[in-house]
Amino acid sequence: MILLHIGIMSALSQISRIRQRIGQLARQRRAVEQVLLERSVLLKGILLEVQRTCGKAGCKCARGQKHSCWQLSASVEGRRRTGNVPRRYVGKVKELTGNYRRFRRARARWVRLNAEMRKRINEMEAARTVPDFRDEAEGQKS
Ligand SMILES: [Zn+2]
Repeated sequence: MILLHIGIMSALSQISRIRQRIGQLARQRRAVEQVLLERSVLLKGILLEVQRTCGKAGCKCARGQKHSCWQLSASVEGRRRTGNVPRRYVGKVKELTGNYRRFRRARARWVRLNAEMRKRINEMEAARTVPDFRDEAEGQKS
């Protein structure tokens, strides 16, 4: 009887630890979901400032003052596509690609949190499951 009692107490403290962790994961997941549910527009890709020479003889770029342009590089259906970004759009493109990175980080975190959540829920099931109905009846009596 004492052994069963000790078993129940250790299961209870384990259940309480698992419950706390699940609560913590649920709060973290809700915070991450706030990011996923934002309305901001996402733009996939990396904005790059490219320095280059044009090849014209006597141009300033031949003396080291290279031309700079902005490019957006993104993988579309497995292929890397690069396009020029007009200077007036650089600010906007920076903002939207930043939104995309933020979304992707949140998404990855959401996936990790869910994986742990699933693991903890399985632990909870194992900790709360009695092997036999008589074990639960004994527990109620003590
Ligand atoms: Zn040039």
